Amino acid sequence: AKVQGKNRFVVHTSELSDEMIAESVLEMELRHAIEHNEFVLHYQPQIHNVSGKLIGFEALIRWQHPRLGLLAPGHFIKLAEENGLITQIGEWVVNEACLQNKKWQDAGMTPVKMSVNLSTQQFLTRNLISFVEEVLERTGLDPKYLVVEITENMAMEYNYSILVLKQLKELGVGISIDDFGTGYSSLNYLKNFPIDYIKIDKSFVSELMKSENDAIIVVAIITLAHNLDLDVIAEGVETEEQLDFLKSHNCDITQGFLFSKPLPAAEIENVYL
Ligand code: C2E
Ligand code: CA
Ligand code: CA
Ligand code: CA
Repeated sequence: AKVQGKNRFVVHTSELSDEMIAESVLEMELRHAIEHNEFVLHYQPQIHNVSGKLIGFEALIRWQHPRLGLLAPGHFIKLAEENGLITQIGEWVVNEACLQNKKWQDAGMTPVKMSVNLSTQQFLTRNLISFVEEVLERTGLDPKYLVVEITENMAMEYNYSILVLKQLKELGVGISIDDFGTGYSSLNYLKNFPIDYIKIDKSFVSELMKSENDAIIVVAIITLAHNLDLDVIAEGVETEEQLDFLKSHNCDITQGFLFSKPLPAAEIENVYL
């Protein structure tokens, strides 16, 4: 039995496997973390391939866990999605990322875009649009410097998703399809959804120079995206060979360890301010 909220915390300890104990503890700690501000964002630069210039950052969450140290999202995002905490966490992310981007612009950094990851659950939350609008107003960030990254899964709520995406567009926010090609949805949404960017998942990029099929898929994604007037971001780029291949096939933007790991705000400032 999964622990669902504190008033259902009735399962006896003896009935729990080690794994379940760990998960229920982590869930309580996750609630605590939201209240006590234990999350931080790291920022990974995105580089425009033709100009070589910085054009944006992706904000990636980490949890400064009191016992376990700095946890990557792989350790807690799935849990947060299962117990519904993801929306609250995601709202913190949107606010913090916009605030940080505005601070950097005010400090004199060349204005660039800030991308944030929205879980499908958060994307489908009824107050998403008013929340984003409120954050933009409160932080004073120009909407054109915010991009939301969503996955193909949102296309399962087809008509509602179109509505939300159109409202985001009306606000002036950019829209990016994350992990492109790894989801289950049909390509049909590409022509009806008002999107700006496609992100090629790093699973394709990492195999690029080893697997002919992955190379074929990457080239096809770039061609498809450009025919639909979308920009292509390749994530997980680690080698010069991968970058050369992507450039020679007109991929627009690069993100990956080759340029930089995701870094805390202070380290971004050392490089770009
Ligand atoms: P993602 O959105 O696909 O983000 C890219 C992941 O690839 C990040 O892992 C990043 O650190 C990593 N990465 C970037 N460049 C390279 C590279 O060259 N090589 C390799 N091997 N990896 C690279 P991270 O930060 O651990 O995030 C994992 C996933 O957690 C993200 O995948 C995203 O789905 C999720 N996530 C992160 N932050 C948030 C958030 O604020 N909200 C939500 N809902 N999900 C988030
Ligand atoms: Ca992402
Ligand atoms: Ca993702
Ligand atoms: Ca990915």
